[in-house]
Amino acid sequence: MVNYIIVTGGVISGLGKGITTASIGKILVNHGYKVTAIKIDPYINFDAGTLRPTEHGEVWVTEDGGEIDQDLGHYERFLDINIPKCNNITTGQVYSAVIEKERSGKYLGKTVQPIPHVTDEIKRRIRAPGGEETKFDFVLVEIGGTVGDYENVLFLEAVRQMKLEGEKVIYVHVTYVPVLKSVGEAKTKPTQHSVKLLREIGIQPDFIITRSEKPLDDVRKEKIALFCNISGEDVISDSNIDNVYGVPLLFEEQELCKKILKKLGLRKEENDFNAWKNYIAKIRKLDKKIKIGIVGKYFDIGAFKLSDAYISVIEAVKHAAWNNNVRPEIEWIDSKIFEKHPRKIVNLKKFDAIIVPGGFGLSGVDGKIATIKYVRENNIPYLGLCLGMQLAVVEYARNVCGLKGANTTEVEKTTPYPVIDFIPDQVKIVTESRYGATMRLGAYPAILADGSLIRKLYNDQNKVYERHRHRYEVNPKYIEILEKKGLVFSGRSPDGILMEFMELPNHPYFTGTQAHPEFKSRPMKPAPLFDGLIKAAKKKKE
Ligand code: GLN
Repeated sequence: MVNYIIVTGGVISGLGKGITTASIGKILVNHGYKVTAIKIDPYINFDAGTLRPTEHGEVWVTEDGGEIDQDLGHYERFLDINIPKCNNITTGQVYSAVIEKERSGKYLGKTVQPIPHVTDEIKRRIRAPGGEETKFDFVLVEIGGTVGDYENVLFLEAVRQMKLEGEKVIYVHVTYVPVLKSVGEAKTKPTQHSVKLLREIGIQPDFIITRSEKPLDDVRKEKIALFCNISGEDVISDSNIDNVYGVPLLFEEQELCKKILKKLGLRKEENDFNAWKNYIAKIRKLDKKIKIGIVGKYFDIGAFKLSDAYISVIEAVKHAAWNNNVRPEIEWIDSKIFEKHPRKIVNLKKFDAIIVPGGFGLSGVDGKIATIKYVRENNIPYLGLCLGMQLAVVEYARNVCGLKGANTTEVEKTTPYPVIDFIPDQVKIVTESRYGATMRLGAYPAILADGSLIRKLYNDQNKVYERHRHRYEVNPKYIEILEKKGLVFSGRSPDGILMEFMELPNHPYFTGTQAHPEFKSRPMKPAPLFDGLIKAAKKKKE
């Protein structure tokens, strides 16, 4: 029988519920269980594809082409599995399925209502997780938002019903315990209120995981236990630590896995934490540093500077750096700075490597092109991801091939040299305003050129799969001139039409890809292009 672990949040959003869920998954995996995870996003958007990065952080791309909330990325990185798009459930998907069923007469004349019809549809989706494996011991279900939000009420109702219907369910509530500065004390009242709301809905949590700056003491644990109707043992402290990959160890120290298994009447099987423990211990000891600059544009949200839009790029840098025994110092640079103050471009000198990540639209593009010119001319290792590769092609066309005014048609429709242009079938899609889930999405193969650097980085594999999310490509008309002037397209789609990878010989490391290899980077298994970047950065530093 499948066991469900339902994770809800309370008090505030942004607690790191995704990391918490992924870490619970990790301890179960390390105890020998087969685990997958589902993310419920209560918004009405069908998927995250049309969400602005500064609105909701990174859009995660699955192997099968789903555009999803970044939490799925945490699950993949911690559990080391590919998670398909059906493991993301949104209000938009649930309602459109219910309405479609109603329109085709499938409810046989019944009044279609939130309960039971919408909740039944939610349960149906939770009970049918997809993946390479079909049999799981555990399905983790994270419900987005916090208890008390209007928009997640039906999802909470659906998971409440699951236990009533005899499913094996464990409810985990993640809350925040703030320390009131003026009093100097950790306050449990917000947690008490949050659990009260949850119990009003009919859910009694089995575990309360408290997020806090410092570890939660026994006094506060007992207080939460008493007021929230659980045992003090089942209040798990999840305080801030230096490295999120250490959270599973924090849970293991508090025997969370053993406690979950006991409640479900399961026996503890294996327990293999050594590899993970050694990995974290190694990372903590690293002292050699390298400086990586990420030149993007989705950083400023109101008065705050956030890196959420590039989380997978940042994680991929970390995995690669740790693999090469260095500690990455990542700096986020807003490319628009170089448009306002062109002279500031020399500040890039201090970096051991530069990444220009993916992006959309006009803003910040000139600053990115200036960045690429600088790193190309000054031998700074470079990795261009999707837009970062497209702009490297634009820069090369302008400044090396002499195609003055070359551009991507995403930025300038009337450019004399459209070196980057729509993938042909995208023209119709965009003219008809069909923006949802219509980019070139998900994993596609590329054939790597013999003897190229890229092929070497991929362990001399001939065919590799990476995930994509784009509407534009290198215009085939300009390949000859670009290659004649020294740019090498070292990976192409199997039909030879799409340029998937590029590199520049006679440069310490100048690479680009139309794909997003960051989505496949995992702890202990860095993405090859990132690994190559860090190796080049290390060499430059030495
Ligand atoms: N905007 C570009 C395109 O659609 C690049 C997309 C990206 O960087 N993911 O092709």
